[in-house]
Amino acid sequence: MVVSKTVSKIEKLIELDKKHYLHPTTVPKSFIENGPKIIFHEGQGIRVTDIKGDTYIDGASMLWNVNLGHGNKELAQAAYDQMSTLAYSSSFYGYSNEKAVRLAEKVVSIAPGDLSAIFFTSGGSESNDTAFKLARFYWDLKGRSTKKKILSISRSYHGATVSAGTATGIDAFHSFAGSRDADMVRAKSHLTNCELGDKNDPNYEGCIRDVIEKEGAETIAALILEPIQGAGGVHVSPDGYLKAVKALCEENDILMISDEVICGFGRTGKMFGVDNWDVVPDIMSVAKGITSGYAQLGGVLVNKEIRDTIVQYDQILGHGFTYSGHPTACSVGLKTIEILERDNILDNVNNMEKELKKGFDYLTDKHRYFTKSRAVGLLAGFELQQDRDLDVPFSESVKPASFVVDQCFKHKLILRAADFEKGKDIVAIAPPLIINKEEISEMINIIDAAVTKFNKTIK
Ligand code: PMP
Repeated sequence: MVVSKTVSKIEKLIELDKKHYLHPTTVPKSFIENGPKIIFHEGQGIRVTDIKGDTYIDGASMLWNVNLGHGNKELAQAAYDQMSTLAYSSSFYGYSNEKAVRLAEKVVSIAPGDLSAIFFTSGGSESNDTAFKLARFYWDLKGRSTKKKILSISRSYHGATVSAGTATGIDAFHSFAGSRDADMVRAKSHLTNCELGDKNDPNYEGCIRDVIEKEGAETIAALILEPIQGAGGVHVSPDGYLKAVKALCEENDILMISDEVICGFGRTGKMFGVDNWDVVPDIMSVAKGITSGYAQLGGVLVNKEIRDTIVQYDQILGHGFTYSGHPTACSVGLKTIEILERDNILDNVNNMEKELKKGFDYLTDKHRYFTKSRAVGLLAGFELQQDRDLDVPFSESVKPASFVVDQCFKHKLILRAADFEKGKDIVAIAPPLIINKEEISEMINIIDAAVTKFNKTIK
């Protein structure tokens, strides 16, 4: 009786979901046909349990954000305490609140170089749109108002709002109808080996230097990139790349924006992605890990020069969100950073990176199609190729990454496929930063089983 009641409750929920809930980044027609893949109910540590009672390892930290894992009572308490005191207050017109001020000071204190002030938003897309606006505002104040364009890199993901969406260098995200930000230009990514315009390279055309020359530096306000591209397929910047890009930006008076929405707050084993290469960007956008996903918060850090310029003129910073500096979100942000530091989470990330790499070595030895594994901290991925020695991908119909991700799901491990680009069959892995050795082994065993199954289907 109890069981059938539960079943009918779930069925009812599925019907309501199909009827009334339009899901992001989902094919609506197939959603209506198949219903939700999973309805999450609760989470603890690296695991989430669905409404039917099945428990999964969250190998993706949901959307690369639940960095401290699920069910963290301290974060919940920080939200509760703040909500009970002052749930919300505006930050417009000179209003302020203590948690926003304290979080601003804290984030600036852990940020690299002279990044010295933060503008709060509610998420990553808003952060990047804000970063673009601040860059353009800065050049206006400097009397160089022709500097409007934003230069982004192929395979990047910067968000879903109009400007951040236009900057995004993954075509699959452009198919959704909408306007484009006209002041955007794109360069090829480092994967083409021509990022800085080596004229001997056959792919030279379209590289960063080339695009700057073509557009004219006087038209470009800023360049945006992720230190490690996440949604684009976990592409790690080669050593020297970010430094060279920064130098190129300086040479051309172009502000460098590091999109740290995924990399920030310990994901890569350093506090910020750029810290892996000792590069200090002019602007840095953050979100996701700043609250470990427990509250909606993002921010844009600017360097001292930009901050000092903005405050020097008697001109309104005519931009802001209702939830900029949300006290509850900022309270959760403060607690998140406190836990990161107090519990030496970065040490754990670096240790678990080693465990993950051991697992990857094992899988590389065992499976002929398993290749190109990489991990910087707990931002990791691997690829599947028909012939890894000759760098030959599977034919498009095979979809090995999606197959392996589906198999992992059957074995109760949630991962993410990045296979929207022809010839690139990538599986991304980004577990909560609190994961331990045994749990890494559990993940590796499931991936092992999934790839074994894939091998059998190919034979
Ligand atoms: N930048 C990067 C690097 C991201 O990965 C994302 C989200 N996946 C965003 C920006 C956009 O963030 P949001 O979805 O919070 O708007």
